[in-house]
Amino acid sequence: MTPATITPELHPVLRAFPGAVLALDRAGMVLESNGYLERALERGVAGQAFSAVLDTASRRKLDAILSREPRAGHDPAATPAWELMLAGRDTLQPRSFYPVWDEGGERLWLVECPRDPRFDALYEELAAVNSEQANTQRQLAKEKARLARALAELERELTENERLSRALQGQNEEMEAQNQELLAMTEELHAGQDQLLGANQQLERRTRELQIALNARNRFYAAMNHELRTPINAVMGYNDLLLAEVYGSLSEQQELAVERSQRAARHLRELVDDVLDLSRLELGKAELATQDVDAAALVDDMLETLRPVAAQAGAEMRRVEGEPVRVVTDPRRLRQIVLNLLSNALKYGEGAPVWARVARGADGGLVLEVTDGGPGIPQEDLGRIFDEFVQLAREDNTEAAGRDGTGLGLSIARRMAHALGGTLEAASTVGVGSTFRLTLPPAPPRGAERPNDHPRP
Ligand code: ADP
Repeated sequence: MTPATITPELHPVLRAFPGAVLALDRAGMVLESNGYLERALERGVAGQAFSAVLDTASRRKLDAILSREPRAGHDPAATPAWELMLAGRDTLQPRSFYPVWDEGGERLWLVECPRDPRFDALYEELAAVNSEQANTQRQLAKEKARLARALAELERELTENERLSRALQGQNEEMEAQNQELLAMTEELHAGQDQLLGANQQLERRTRELQIALNARNRFYAAMNHELRTPINAVMGYNDLLLAEVYGSLSEQQELAVERSQRAARHLRELVDDVLDLSRLELGKAELATQDVDAAALVDDMLETLRPVAAQAGAEMRRVEGEPVRVVTDPRRLRQIVLNLLSNALKYGEGAPVWARVARGADGGLVLEVTDGGPGIPQEDLGRIFDEFVQLAREDNTEAAGRDGTGLGLSIARRMAHALGGTLEAASTVGVGSTFRLTLPPAPPRGAERPNDHPRP
């Protein structure tokens, strides 16, 4: 293909053009120039390789353009300005060109587009817009990153919330279970309270009933005092008169009968006295007449009184050596207690020896023991024998001949011991014998009558 030349009409245009216009063949040789560039470079380029005036980077750019498949027609918009560094005589100069291929793609037109100061403002504006856009983009990127972070945080919070809510639900369930348990316990407690209330009411009712029974018994004792004592005293009075032969002399037989009647009446009066004593002790009305008492002498006196009874039982009875003890107490009451213990020992000892011993207690008071070598009392009965109307022999249905007690003796003795501020206890071994031990303080304490000392129901 013959190289195309510029149509002659174009020459004046090229000359008037305010920049360089060059035509290169495919090998990069300058076919034509308007001389503008040559003047600027201060050397000729026409008929030479254009690459000879370019720096290395610009040379590569030119090679790339020349080796490219040329596109048909002039398409400046699609072919951006292209800056080359041209080597002038002294300096390197940057120049912007538009590469334009001619028809057929054999010739490359390089058309310089010189810098026009009128566009500077536009360029600056463009640069400003560009930098603003870049800024905006940077900010957008930043914002995007921030949003991503916030989103991640939100997700993390959501997960944590979910976990918390699950934990809360677990706790709620646990609390619910505990509540149920508490409710059950409360119900149980209510039931227990009701039961307790019932028991209390029952107890109150029983206490009231007991009080009524006690009052009835005390009324009975009071009535007995009057109704029984008066006729017994009358019988004993008449017996005395008969024995004194106020109503005439008695035959021996008659005298014997009256004496027997008198003994029976005396026993009856003792029983009545016992019962009355008991009622007084229960009511706390036992009056004490205290004085200084020689305990050993008092015991000796009682032994002497019971000597005929011991002889009749065939039992040896004595006081074993102890120490002299003096206490302030009611001698009548003390005598009653000792008499009861000694006569029981004789009554239930089956002829075994009986001995009494007086000693000083740790508190300086009295310790008085009555021991017998009799059959003894079973362990399970030891506590009971102090209860009213308990007579073991009668319960066993064994013949209680000659042992006609009332079952009140020990009960009264213990109450008296208490009234005097002391104690009365029993110890026994079956087949060996029994020991009844009375202790009394050196002097009865104030209010020793113990008004609250009621019998067990
Ligand atoms: P009682 O009037 O029957 O003698 P007590 O209260 O004095 O009543 O005694 C109660 C019961 O204790 C007696 O019936 C008897 O069975 C038993 N008892 C008392 N003292 C002795 C003893 N020394 N040895 C064996 N049993 C005794």
